[in-house]
Amino acid sequence: MAASNKDKIRDIYELLPKLNCGLCGYGSCGRFAKAVAGGRTSPFGCRRNPWAGYKISEIIGAEAPAHVYRSQAAFLPGLRVSPDTMNLKTLRKEINRLSRGVEDILARMENLKTRR
Ligand code: SF4
Repeated sequence: MAASNKDKIRDIYELLPKLNCGLCGYGSCGRFAKAVAGGRTSPFGCRRNPWAGYKISEIIGAEAPAHVYRSQAAFLPGLRVSPDTMNLKTLRKEINRLSRGVEDILARMENLKTRR
């Protein structure tokens, strides 16, 4: 038996970060999930976790083209890992590296503030 639209929305929602940041243009993860289930937007539209689009594509029965993976990676500024060789382990390492860079910048800014 095919999943109902309500089931699809719930399953899609479960894959999203639930940050309700609005970067996808739908204001919340729930509205984004409804839009995807209704075929009104790309399953890769979550800007916080575009890779969820692969699982979401399975849920809605859409075929995910390989080039989406490459283009979505372009949304990560400063990414040093080639999208062609990226997997969860290398992505996690790269995110940790970028996080350390941000923390370093914040520490320097804090240091400059205390000098004034
Ligand atoms: S961009 Fe992703 S995390 Fe942000 S509201 Fe949209 S679906 Fe949720």
